[in-house]
Amino acid sequence: MTVPGGVGPQIGAGGHISGGGYGALSRLHGLVVDYLNAVEVVVVDASGQARTVVATAAADDPNHDLWWAHTGGGGGNFGVVTRYWLRDPHATGNSPATWLPQPPAALLLAQYRWPWAQLDETSYTRIVANFTRWHEANSAPGSPERALFAVLSLNSVNTGDLGLTVQVDATAPNAAGLLRDFVAALGEGTSVAPVGNQRTLPWWDAFRYSSFADFGPGIGNRVKLKSSYLRKSYTPAQLATLYRWLSRAGYPGRAATVLLAGYGGRINSLRADERAIPQRDSVIKAQYSVRWIDPAEDELHLSWVRGLYRELFADTGGVPVPGDRHDGAYINYPDVDLADAAWNTSSTAWSTLYYKGNYPRLRQIKKRWDPQDRFHHALAVRPAE
Ligand SMILES: Cc1cc2nc3c(=O)[nH]c(=O)nc-3n(C[C@H](O)[C@H](O)[C@H](O)COP(=O)(O)OP(=O)(O)OC[C@H]3O[C@@H](n4cnc5c(N)ncnc54)[C@H](O)[C@@H]3O)c2cc1C
Repeated sequence: MTVPGGVGPQIGAGGHISGGGYGALSRLHGLVVDYLNAVEVVVVDASGQARTVVATAAADDPNHDLWWAHTGGGGGNFGVVTRYWLRDPHATGNSPATWLPQPPAALLLAQYRWPWAQLDETSYTRIVANFTRWHEANSAPGSPERALFAVLSLNSVNTGDLGLTVQVDATAPNAAGLLRDFVAALGEGTSVAPVGNQRTLPWWDAFRYSSFADFGPGIGNRVKLKSSYLRKSYTPAQLATLYRWLSRAGYPGRAATVLLAGYGGRINSLRADERAIPQRDSVIKAQYSVRWIDPAEDELHLSWVRGLYRELFADTGGVPVPGDRHDGAYINYPDVDLADAAWNTSSTAWSTLYYKGNYPRLRQIKKRWDPQDRFHHALAVRPAE
């Protein structure tokens, strides 16, 4: 059994789970916090005394609110998590092996790339638009296409090509056809064919292969991440912005990328207030990132990712204000710029971008469980007045 969590050997459970947690199986099975059954937290009371509390998903648990806060409220807010219990809320029976999702027995993995040299603005933006439109059409909670998870890597021109990684539950009906149709849909309207390969591997081998292959040395230990949820495709103006920033040969960043990860499917079967993470009708999670090594280059790389993001969301104050097309940002890609009036010129607070209508409840829970506001950082939940 497994949980539909993320990839990356550096990630700890403490922050990953409390921030929501998603991964390659999330379209099939939802978020990690959809399986959070209980949490053990060391909290500090009004007298400064530390104590350990267990909070559960049971509606009649007097500590239920502290459990809910850990279903996407973000790390470093309420106390120190010392244990998580995970269990499918719909699971029955006494056999623990049935309490969490079974991973697919095997995965069909595919990798493709479209070399920059073969792309012009028209073909580039068409492929990106095709990717997002496919997800708009195929991300309902019960859609058979949720067996497919894909990430489109919009690498900047000095970073790499336009890359696609896909995994399909190899046991799903017509898995090979699903992959073939998806790749064909991405190329629709363009004459550029991607180069790539595919293979079928047992789940655990596939997981290790896809999770760890890309995290070699030299990626850089300085990083800036930004994010946005997409309910719909980018506008033509936004696609042009992406192309302009990513194709800018004058910018020397060698690890500057926009990742578009498939979302929706089972994630979207819950209401926005059932867990603290509220985005439950998006179809893509986008990550805008840059990594580098030399602190002397901070300004160079920060201004690239900040500039791209500000221009992308120019119509809504430089940030992805929840609305028809976008739906805020992901607290596990924390971005202090959202709380900075220089970068967020919208009238929407950083807390609404991350938590939307769930923020007032998080503030009440903060007041109850961290009355001295001991757990504090730049994007910490503020206690209710
Ligand atoms: C290489 C890489 C790949 C990633 N891939 C994914 C992905 O596929 N899916 C996804 O959802 N996310 C992904 N992330 C984001 C990841 O979920 C967050 O970075 C997450 O916060 C990491 O958890 P951590 O415990 O390592 O956090 P830290 O960086 O250690 O901490 C993050 C926050 O959580 C708090 N925190 C940490 N531990 C605890 C604890 N025990 N109790 C209370 N608060 C705590 C910290 O105080 C801090 O505020 C990725 C990140 C990286 C670096």
